[in-house]
Amino acid sequence: MEIRRLDDMQTLVSLSKRRGFVFQSSEIYGGINACWDFGPLGVEVKLNVKKAWWKAMTSRKDIEGLDAAILMHPQVWKASGHVDGFSDPLVDCKDCKARHRQDKLEDPTTCPNCGGKNLSDPRNFNLMFKTHMGPVEDSGNVVYLRPETAQGIFVNFENVATSMRKKIPFGIAQIGKSFRNEITPGNFIFRTREFEQMEMQYFVKPGTDDEAFEEWKEIRKKFYSKIGLNPENLRFTPHGPGELAHYAKAAFDIEYKYPIGWSELEGIHNRSDFDLRQHQEFSGKSLEYFDEAAKEKYLPFVIETAVGCDRLVLACMSDAYREEISTLDNGKEDKRVVMGFHPDIAPVKAAILPLSKKEPLLEYADKLFADLNDSYNVQMDVAGSIGKRYRRQDEIGTPLCITVDFDTLEDHKVTVRHRDTMAQDRVAVDQLASYVFDKLRNF
Ligand code: ATP
Repeated sequence: MEIRRLDDMQTLVSLSKRRGFVFQSSEIYGGINACWDFGPLGVEVKLNVKKAWWKAMTSRKDIEGLDAAILMHPQVWKASGHVDGFSDPLVDCKDCKARHRQDKLEDPTTCPNCGGKNLSDPRNFNLMFKTHMGPVEDSGNVVYLRPETAQGIFVNFENVATSMRKKIPFGIAQIGKSFRNEITPGNFIFRTREFEQMEMQYFVKPGTDDEAFEEWKEIRKKFYSKIGLNPENLRFTPHGPGELAHYAKAAFDIEYKYPIGWSELEGIHNRSDFDLRQHQEFSGKSLEYFDEAAKEKYLPFVIETAVGCDRLVLACMSDAYREEISTLDNGKEDKRVVMGFHPDIAPVKAAILPLSKKEPLLEYADKLFADLNDSYNVQMDVAGSIGKRYRRQDEIGTPLCITVDFDTLEDHKVTVRHRDTMAQDRVAVDQLASYVFDKLRNF
């Protein structure tokens, strides 16, 4: 049997639409550029990705969660440097009118769209979306849609430390929407204008930051193997001194091999005390931490881990996709499409497939469905041949299919078929819950 992996994004875009993972936003109106809606299965994958990340972060004693507002005091974005500095260099091709980010061009003098040499001088384009608070639109009430979740954490550093009686080192984790008016969005859900970030800022004593930075690199690498990403599709790239953002003392990217090539999935940064110092200065409120043991005051340094939830969903989907090609007895080619998700990420954990739509099989299957659906997202599928139903579940990545047949009524056993091996077990119904639990944990 030959295995084919995903090598173009369009295959994933089509599967996503066909099977209810991701739809183009406002599609009936012709769509809106670079905005996507997560469908019934996509929203499950996304929730599972968030759950895995949230658990990995907040199950630690030294990390607390937060959910800050998207709209913040406009001074926040002055202090953070975003009003003055969060911009990309935009160049226009005077021949074909395409727009590009100059820093992403392989050759900054040539248009990658038409090959022309007629590019405009770069103009700095601020990526923040602006809106107005209150009924009157004037320059006095401009607010921004946050371009990152991190600032909500920095301005709550003191609140979290005090209310939760945290001692340094400790971290704050947050998942939430961010907005960037990207110049060149695209590549499906890789770069969009509205996306979700999962960020954790870890506050440490200055002088211990290099060590904490190294530790977090290792912790984050382990996370990706835990959720089942193929290590061959991950690589780790330190930033050179010339590539660092204005706030960063050190930076490290975790890159994934997407169908578009190696691209950033997560950034890990040593942000020094830049953000707390800026907010202290702009707000006039001391953000210094008093270390009781050492009897000293200091502004903590911050190690940040920042991953895009949508980019991680895209990595999980790209990684999971495979086509198994075999030759049938009649010489024809057979293609089985499988989304080989890790069970924690799979949108549907098990499918109940009664062999017939008729009672009493359906009633029996309904009862099994109700029992399992209490603990897992389970689908019931009664339509089509059993072979077709297996293939439908393979294509959405369901780890286990449970078939209820006529013998079940007599022996109270069901057939459980495994997605990856296609092996089948006959399992007693009263053992089914523990069997499913065990198989999903030890997949
Ligand atoms: P890039 O260089 O790809 O624009 P970045 O370095 O600006 O990304 P960060 O500001 O470090 O990104 O944001 C942290 C994470 O948020 C990124 O690693 C990425 O996963 C995600 N992210 C950033 N911009 C977008 C976007 N436009 N669409 C989807 N995810 C994004």
